[in-house]
Amino acid sequence: MACVPLPICPLAMAESERSLPVFPDRIEVLLAEAGLEGEALTMRMTGYPHGCARPYLAEIGLVGKAPSLYNLYPGGDRTGMRLNALDREALGEEAQLDILRPRLKRFAGLRGAGKTFGSWPAAYSRDGEEPMRIETRIQDVLLLFGELRNAPYAPAAFATSFGAEDMVLTDLIAKHAPWIEIFTLDTGRLPEETYRLIQETRGHYHLPIQVYFPEHGTVERYVREHGPNAFYESQEMRKTCCHMRKVEPLQRALQGKGAWVTGMRREQALTRQDLAVQEWDAAHELPKFNPLADWRGKEVWDYIRRFEVPYNRLHDQGYPSIGCAPCTRAISPDQDIRAGRWWWENPAAKECGLHVVDGRLIRARPATPQKPPGQT
Ligand code: SF4
Repeated sequence: MACVPLPICPLAMAESERSLPVFPDRIEVLLAEAGLEGEALTMRMTGYPHGCARPYLAEIGLVGKAPSLYNLYPGGDRTGMRLNALDREALGEEAQLDILRPRLKRFAGLRGAGKTFGSWPAAYSRDGEEPMRIETRIQDVLLLFGELRNAPYAPAAFATSFGAEDMVLTDLIAKHAPWIEIFTLDTGRLPEETYRLIQETRGHYHLPIQVYFPEHGTVERYVREHGPNAFYESQEMRKTCCHMRKVEPLQRALQGKGAWVTGMRREQALTRQDLAVQEWDAAHELPKFNPLADWRGKEVWDYIRRFEVPYNRLHDQGYPSIGCAPCTRAISPDQDIRAGRWWWENPAAKECGLHVVDGRLIRARPATPQKPPGQT
């Protein structure tokens, strides 16, 4: 499969010694899940595209990109057919499995009787046609939504903040997965454009959207003691505000749920690069699903335009990420997607407490801290 005499391939960065003993076992689990147990499958892992393992001549080819990160190639079958197309770049192990899982299931469902695994590349559906790509993406999400219909995940709830990704998921849930409840957190400080979109979404889809508010007594006490905009004064004040307006209402929203769904994507920040489609949310002790983890920003917007999905007009004004009005501002195209959130803070401490992965809060890529309005 690949050279193993060295822990890391000297031609690139493939960690063959660490990955080889464990990764094929995990692929076998996926095969069993897809009903393909016992099928012959060739997997090749190598340090660079023209390396000794020849990843193109395998049903699954992996090329080392950096320590623990691989590019994924659909590869070719054992007769030497080549697709020669890079599928995804710089994936961690969990991300690779997330991408392969629905594709193996789809392959199992699509192939004709008596076909061997050699027909896998033809069924892989990695192609240059944008409409097909979106269709493939949609199928992956709907497969996942199907699993959320029953135990142990039901009732599943989708947390929307009405960002672009959330509107894609809202559209899919409204049309195909009404068993997933939709809720949002109204912090009381949202931009007017977001309220308009909430209203528009209700009318467009005729959907009940459950809105959770902060406990009014806690907010009244905070504002009386510190003022309405105290979150600019210190990180502690900001975190207290986020906790009472977001974290506590989220805890209430998730009570009694079997799983929750978010619109988070890997591309949104470097720290989300290994975001998995399925995670264990230790803070809420629930399975958490990020069905768009692997989507690119362009694909989100292709979906919105193709299906005429309502979206927040602030996205047209330089706001790729939208939170509370006083804590979000427009950014320039060369800045990180989340640079406009809490821009006055040290980037290493930016979070609101809603998303925790492996015990760590997910943070945005570092950006230059700047002062809040009114401060010099
Ligand atoms: S984003 Fe700003 S206004 Fe909204 S809850 Fe957090 S600190 Fe408060």
